[in-house]
Amino acid sequence: MRQLILASRNAGKIREFKRMLEESSIDVEVLSLLDFPELPDVEETGTTLQENARLKAVEITQATGKPCLADDSGIFIDVLDGNPGVYSARWSGVHGDDQANNAKVLREIHEKERAAANGQVDRSAQFRCVVALSFPSDHQSAGEVIFESGEMPGRIIDEPRGEHGFGYDPIFVPDGFSETSAELSAQEKDRISHRGQAMRKILPILAATL
Ligand code: IMP
Repeated sequence: MRQLILASRNAGKIREFKRMLEESSIDVEVLSLLDFPELPDVEETGTTLQENARLKAVEITQATGKPCLADDSGIFIDVLDGNPGVYSARWSGVHGDDQANNAKVLREIHEKERAAANGQVDRSAQFRCVVALSFPSDHQSAGEVIFESGEMPGRIIDEPRGEHGFGYDPIFVPDGFSETSAELSAQEKDRISHRGQAMRKILPILAATL
């Protein structure tokens, strides 16, 4: 059976990708970096989601000899000048510490509110995701990297709510909803999320190229 490597160790992301790949009719065995504990983490030295997605996809394809799907994603908060952005996973200084990352974002928004004349700021934010698909040297598309992207607009709330999802989901309410993205069902989040949108664009490409 054909194989596809997800270039991530983030359990929340892997869950979402696997769910969406399983729901598609693509006949492929999906592995992630959790299946390759010996591989070092790819250094995310890029300054854009696209650069980091490319770095991860290309490096993991080289290391495994398999087609690889990488995602670089993050939350871009208007009043924080677009931060944490590409630094979302390590905003608090500790990679992948969701609680500390959320707490830092809320602290920074509160500081902005204290500095604002009316004590209020615009809490608009967007989740963004870029996926990159790369191919091994024996593949007809070797050397090519295919990108797709998605975006979910919403706003930041103070009190974390919800048990689903991961990362900043408990403090993010998508536009048009009253629930946080951690309160939405898996299917509902996939339907509107940045990752869901990027995946729906890349699934037909995966079906045609793998
Ligand atoms: P990456 O592994 O560098 O792409 O890190 C992405 C980070 O952005 C994650 O660790 C989360 O903190 C955040 N993030 C990305 N997508 C989501 C999402 O769907 N929900 C909540 N947080 C997310």
